[in-house]
Amino acid sequence: MSKGRFGIHGGQYIPETLMNAVIELEEAYNKYKNDPEFNAELETLFNEYAGRPSRLYYAERMTKDLGGAKVYLKREDLNHTGSHKINNVLGQVLLAKKMGKTRVIAETGAGQHGVATATAAAMMDMECEIFMGKEDTERQALNVYRMRLLGAKVHPVTSGTATLKDAVSETMREWTSRISDTHYVLGSVMGPHPFPTIVRDFQAVISKEIKEQMQEKEGRLPDVVMACVGGGSNAMGTFYNFIEDTSVRLIGCEAAGRGVNTAETAATIATGRLGIFHGMKSYFCQDEYGQIAPVYSISAGLDYPGIGPEHAMLYDTGRAEYVPVTDDEAVDAFEYLSRIEGIIPAIESAHAVAHAKKIVPTLPKDQIVVITISGRGDKDVAAIARYRGEDISD
Ligand SMILES: *Cc1c(COP(=O)(O)O)cnc(C)c1O
Repeated sequence: MSKGRFGIHGGQYIPETLMNAVIELEEAYNKYKNDPEFNAELETLFNEYAGRPSRLYYAERMTKDLGGAKVYLKREDLNHTGSHKINNVLGQVLLAKKMGKTRVIAETGAGQHGVATATAAAMMDMECEIFMGKEDTERQALNVYRMRLLGAKVHPVTSGTATLKDAVSETMREWTSRISDTHYVLGSVMGPHPFPTIVRDFQAVISKEIKEQMQEKEGRLPDVVMACVGGGSNAMGTFYNFIEDTSVRLIGCEAAGRGVNTAETAATIATGRLGIFHGMKSYFCQDEYGQIAPVYSISAGLDYPGIGPEHAMLYDTGRAEYVPVTDDEAVDAFEYLSRIEGIIPAIESAHAVAHAKKIVPTLPKDQIVVITISGRGDKDVAAIARYRGEDISD
C-alpha cells in the first residue's frame, strides 16, 4: 500500500501551499509516535486528565430485554468533556506542542470537537481559534460560550451552507495562511494524509482497552463491535485493534436522517459515490454533477457528507459492514437506553444502539456484542424533546 493510501482511498489532494505543513506534520508524527517519553506523557493525560480507561459495562438489563447476545457498552461518554473526541485532541495538541507550535485551530460542527480542542489548548497553554458555521453558532450558542470560557476565539463561517463542511474548508484556508506557528487539530479520521492515520492511532485506545477488558471479563474476543460513523473516528478507534481478528464482526452505523431514499440523509456508504473532497479520495454524498450534496441528520455529529478513507477501504474489502439508521430509530434508541440502563447516550451513539436493538435478538446467547457509546446525551435532551413535540424551552 503506497503512502497515505487505504486501498484506492486517502492520499493528499491539497494545494501546493499546504504540502510543507503536512510533510512537517508527518515527519513529527513519525518521530514521536514510537517515542517512549511522548507516549508516557500522553498516557498520563489520558488517565489523569481524561479519566481513562473508560468502563466496559455489561448492560445486563438490555441483554435480558433483547433476549439474544450479551451486550457490553464501551463508555466513552464518561470521558472528560463527554465524548471520545478528547482522545484525539489530547494527542494532537501534545504533538503540536512538541513541534514548537503555539497556536491551534480547529473546525467544529455542533461544537463538541471545538470544546474538546479549546479544553486541551487551555490545559496545555496554547492559543486556540475555532471555525464554526454561522448556522451552527446560532443553533449551538451554549457551546460557543463554552469555547470562549475556555479561552478560545470562535469565528463564524458564512461561506456555502455555513455548516460543518464549510468550517473544514475555512480552517484549511486559515492553516495555509499561517503554518509556521499553527497546527490544525482535525476532528475525525479524514482530510489529507497523515490526518486519517494520526486520528485513528489516537482513537485506537478504545479498541485496545475493549480487548484487554473483554479478556479480563470473558476471557475471549467479542463477536461483534459496533459504533456510529460520522467522519468515522470513534468507529475506527473501536475497530482498529480487531481488524486482524477476522472472527470479530465490525459494524458502522451511519445517519440515514429521514431515510436513504430521501434527499435528507447523511448515509455516505448507502448513498454516496467515489470522489475527492477535503484533501482525500473517499465516498461522498454528491449531486448528479458531482457537487457535494447538502446532508441532513438529527445528529449534528454525524451530519458530514463523507466518510474517512480507511472506512471506505474496509467497506470495499468487505472487512466491515455499514448500515443506515434513521432519525426515528435513533430517537427511539436514545429513549430506550435512558430508560433501560439509566444511561442517556449522545444522539450520535444512539444510532449504534438502534442497530444493536435490531441484531442482538437474532444472535445466539453465547455471543458478545460491544457497542461504543461515543458520548453523553445531555447536549441533545432539548432537541429530542422538540422532536417529540414537547416544549421545554428555557
Ligand atoms: C463528533 C461525534 C461523533 C462523530 O464523529 P466520528 O468521527 O464519526 O466519531 C459521534 N459521537 C459523538 C458523541 C460526537 O461528538
